[in-house]
Amino acid sequence: MLRFIAPHIRVENVRQLSLDWLRELGLDALLLDVDCTLKEYRAEEVTPEVAAWLGELRAAGIGLCLVSNGMGRRIERFAGRLDLPFVSKAMKPLPFRLRSTVRKMQFDPSRTAMVGDQLFADVLAGRLARLVTILVRPIHPEQEPWFTRLKRRPERALLKWTGSASLTTTPL
Ligand SMILES: [Mg+2]
Repeated sequence: MLRFIAPHIRVENVRQLSLDWLRELGLDALLLDVDCTLKEYRAEEVTPEVAAWLGELRAAGIGLCLVSNGMGRRIERFAGRLDLPFVSKAMKPLPFRLRSTVRKMQFDPSRTAMVGDQLFADVLAGRLARLVTILVRPIHPEQEPWFTRLKRRPERALLKWTGSASLTTTPL
């Protein structure tokens, strides 16, 4: 059961997922959570550093798609500014929208990772969809709504428990 919420890989932030490392890991597509993963919860845009990282991956042919539980218009505007495909109201931790996105985008599921900041949404959904899962440390989680913050304490406890076994720094 635990393995469903243990990420394959943990990183501090998305920018650590360099092109070289993704290639080493055998990944050529990323489904990206938005809030607290690519940007602060209340921010409307990514930092220039994250924009540069996205641009570098895209230029190298890494498939990218935003997959957020957030509402349509807000995510649509965000995706529009980055010129990235998106799925809103993704209903993570359910895996269905992840699976349909991988199909629609014609990504190879065995070479696709779900990247996000929440065990009980991003990692669980990614695991259930049989994707590689990458957990990032949330950016400014104190800005999140109360129902998301409620999940943070059990998340931290579980992460301690699943521990460094999930911290992969070598190819999968
Ligand atoms: Mg998030």
